[in-house]
Amino acid sequence: MSAGPDRWLLFISSGGSKMDFKNFSLAIAQTKVARFAGDLAAGKIMSTVCKKCSKRYYPPQADCPACMSSDMEWKELKGEGTLVTFTKIYVAPDHFAVRQPLMPFSSVVLEPSPIGVLEVEGGLRVMGWIPKVDLKKIHVGMKMRASPQTLPDGRVTIVLEPT
Ligand SMILES: [Zn+2]
Repeated sequence: MSAGPDRWLLFISSGGSKMDFKNFSLAIAQTKVARFAGDLAAGKIMSTVCKKCSKRYYPPQADCPACMSSDMEWKELKGEGTLVTFTKIYVAPDHFAVRQPLMPFSSVVLEPSPIGVLEVEGGLRVMGWIPKVDLKKIHVGMKMRASPQTLPDGRVTIVLEPT
């Protein structure tokens, strides 16, 4: 009997009651920064700016830890920036995993999927997948653009591409 990943997605229990993994997004929609996901789906990466002390946040925050104000303004981030670090994720989500056997005759498939952190305006840092670039061509300091991308399964993520 195989214990594939589907088994884990179907039966995640919460306090004895079965919880469908797909409903997890409902919990996120109830936070104070819920519009972030909707804006991302509409093609915008949003930050928040404190109206009192002007400190800017990404990921967006509803309250300012610097001055304790909750008077925040939403502002779109320009996605252009400089890659400050990157790494390889060996067990990537299905939509980023490239299926190749680990070794001949192996049923184990692992392929590194690059993920990086881009420093954009105001020193803010945006993490995203780098799906279309050869790993050997990725280097710290390269100019890239972060943009939202809707995946074939309907989920939205942030992708980094060279400019
Ligand atoms: Zn503030």
